[in-house]
Amino acid sequence: MAALAVLIFLGACGSLWLDAKDGGDAAFWWPNGLILSALLLNRRNKWPVIFGIGYVTNVLAHLYMHDTVFLSLTLTACDMLEVAIASYPFAHITRDAVRFSRPRELARLCLVGGILGPAISAVFAVAIFQMQSPAPRNFGLHWFFSNTLGTIIVTPIVLSLLDGEVAALFRRNRLLELTGLLVLLYLLPLAIFRYTHLPIFFTVFPPLLLLVVRLGMGGGVVGVCGIAAFCIMVVAKGGGAVVHGFELSWQKQVFLVQVLLASAVLCVALVAVVLNERRLLEQAARKSEQLYRLLAENSRDIIVLTDLEHRREYLSPAVQWMMGWDPKELLGGTYQKNIVHPDDIPAMTATLEALKAGEPSKTLSYRCRKKDGEYIWMEANISLYCDRITGEPIGYVNVVRNISERKAAEEKLQDAYLALEALASVDALTGTANRRQFDESLSQEWRRAARTGSPLSLLLLDVDHFKLYNDFYGHLQGDNCLRQIARVALDLIQRPGDLVGRFGGEEFAIILPETSCEAAVGLAERIRSLVAEQGVVHAGSQHGLVTVSIGCSTINPEPYTNQNLLIEAADQALYEAKRNGRNRVVNAVESSGQTLNAE
Ligand code: GH3
Ligand code: MG
Ligand code: MG
Repeated sequence: MAALAVLIFLGACGSLWLDAKDGGDAAFWWPNGLILSALLLNRRNKWPVIFGIGYVTNVLAHLYMHDTVFLSLTLTACDMLEVAIASYPFAHITRDAVRFSRPRELARLCLVGGILGPAISAVFAVAIFQMQSPAPRNFGLHWFFSNTLGTIIVTPIVLSLLDGEVAALFRRNRLLELTGLLVLLYLLPLAIFRYTHLPIFFTVFPPLLLLVVRLGMGGGVVGVCGIAAFCIMVVAKGGGAVVHGFELSWQKQVFLVQVLLASAVLCVALVAVVLNERRLLEQAARKSEQLYRLLAENSRDIIVLTDLEHRREYLSPAVQWMMGWDPKELLGGTYQKNIVHPDDIPAMTATLEALKAGEPSKTLSYRCRKKDGEYIWMEANISLYCDRITGEPIGYVNVVRNISERKAAEEKLQDAYLALEALASVDALTGTANRRQFDESLSQEWRRAARTGSPLSLLLLDVDHFKLYNDFYGHLQGDNCLRQIARVALDLIQRPGDLVGRFGGEEFAIILPETSCEAAVGLAERIRSLVAEQGVVHAGSQHGLVTVSIGCSTINPEPYTNQNLLIEAADQALYEAKRNGRNRVVNAVESSGQTLNAE
């Protein structure tokens, strides 16, 4: 606080002294910038003390420089009002957050501290001055400019020097670079001034900009301080190259130097803002890139990016452990080449075309070749991705998942289902169709025959004296016998559409589509004789062997009639066969003596 008081006092005295020397054109007023810096560097609870020190030391400086008590008190009050206005936008942000290399803070400093504050205080100052005597010419304008320059030069420099930006240069071991660039900053203009007398002080700007670009706001501020020292040195020598050729009074030269310094500070701050923004953008981009990379590289799915010609541009590392390929091996290739199973290429092509035509993302299952040649089932979720700026599609993003286990489970399930279905339609004892399947087939064939006008034949087969067989040889033996007879029928009846079914007990029914009466009788006869030829001993039969009786029926079905007609006719014929001595075939036509539309 003592240092602050001393600096303010000296600053105010210096400015007032310059002011007094040259009708007010020379000075720049830097106590306000100092007080504002002190406020920004301290907590809010210290602000009243800082305002107090600022006010008292300022008043003392005015008195010391022989201003009236009234002017000393009132003009200093105007200054304090200006500092209060300038500090207001920063009142609610924490000390560490104030950096003039950020756009918002720099804009607040320039607009509120550099324009609004000085403008308001200038209006009050002029009004106060007028109370005593007419204000000097351009007094208000001079007040405004000197205060603006003071604040814009001093505040960013002090903050950078004391708030770590300059200290960071030393921490970051950039001292060598800083020294080199500072030497450049001074030597270049000096060298130029040595050989010319033109006022080319703006040659300091390229090295100054280089300082900011390389070392940030801190480096720029050190450079501005250097320029200030350089200018003071030059002006002290009596004009010199900074203003040479203008033939100005030295006070005006001081003013010119102030404008140069303010421009340099603004230049440094603006470049620092732009660089800072870019750095933040880069940081954000790097962070999001890291995030996406982390996601892609740790995903158990394979992520593939291709261009619109399907050439792979990126593959996530999952492709290595899932398929054995090194991602690099697959870069640049397309799906048509060696990867997708040839049978699945048309589906893949259709999917990609549909996406190109504007359909949203699609899912596709296909077989993919591993490096060892084995194909595995994969599921791809594919979508188009677009350029963020133009919105034009630029490629495909493909998230691929191994579904071979799921596929295997599905296939197993399908097999189980088929087996179950087979079980439900097959008679467990004999392997012929069961009654349900028989009924369904007969109904279907009946309708088909009605549609096509073709004959449909049915054989009903019953084992002769089978009750006795069971009685003689037991039920298990009876079962074997039934299986044997079924085998005979199944082996013989082979045409597609034919069906051997277990009608019930020891009776079998055989459906023969598009089979004439004669052909059906012929087949029945073959079965009968083949069963007899099996030579299965049956002590209860007059033939001494197991024999069967078969009833045949053949009908050309009319539409909207019932298939029971066919069963009843065959049943009737079977009954006739039994009645006529068994081990024989009887046709329904002969059995009933009437025509059943038989061929
Ligand atoms: P018929 O010559 O008149 O046909 O005399 P049958 O003894 O065969 O008379 P019926 O058709 O009434 O007897 C059927 C017998 O078939 C009754 C039952 O013991 C036997 N049977 C029915 N289903 C089975 C089976 O699944 N296994 C065995 N072992 N026997 C069966
Ligand atoms: Mg029977
Ligand atoms: Mg029987």
